[in-house]
Amino acid sequence: MIIQKQIMNSQPFLIHNNSALFIDRDGVLNKLRVNDYVKQISELELLPEVYPALKILRPLFKRIFIVTNQQGIGKKIMIDSIDSIHSHLLSLIANELLPDKIYHCPHLKELGCVCRKPNTGMALMAKNDYPEIQLTHSFMIGDSISDMEFAKNSGMRPIFISKSENNEFPTFTSILDFAIALIKK
Ligand SMILES: [Mg+2]
Repeated sequence: MIIQKQIMNSQPFLIHNNSALFIDRDGVLNKLRVNDYVKQISELELLPEVYPALKILRPLFKRIFIVTNQQGIGKKIMIDSIDSIHSHLLSLIANELLPDKIYHCPHLKELGCVCRKPNTGMALMAKNDYPEIQLTHSFMIGDSISDMEFAKNSGMRPIFISKSENNEFPTFTSILDFAIALIKK
């Protein structure tokens, strides 16, 4: 099955059977804490558009992953563990809409690890765990330039979430706007 959609002036978005959707966490699924981290469960605020967006996106993609840089772990400023924060995040999402897996990078930026976006480690981990996906048919949606570079470095289609115009990447104000654009005739 191939769904072809023409969005804005960009090339059509093709969703194949082996397309995966990679989603950044902070600023896309939960409210961004500017110059701070989600250090504990009580700081995680799911955005209201996530439920309607996933209702559209979950049936379109066989695999959905969350990929998130969390150097707050490396900085040792976390109050709750990343596992408990992610368990809480998943508990806020309806069962039938859950992502397949959450990948996180715990390292400090200056370590130069392979898994911190924009490096490709988390995409390669997903490909290793789910060999059926094809990264060149996949999408990465995020709200920072490092997400867009991660997409390009991994061969994926970048989708930028921003309130301001961007000429370089297909840009939407929220994950819901992107989802709606995908299904618009
Ligand atoms: Mg983000």
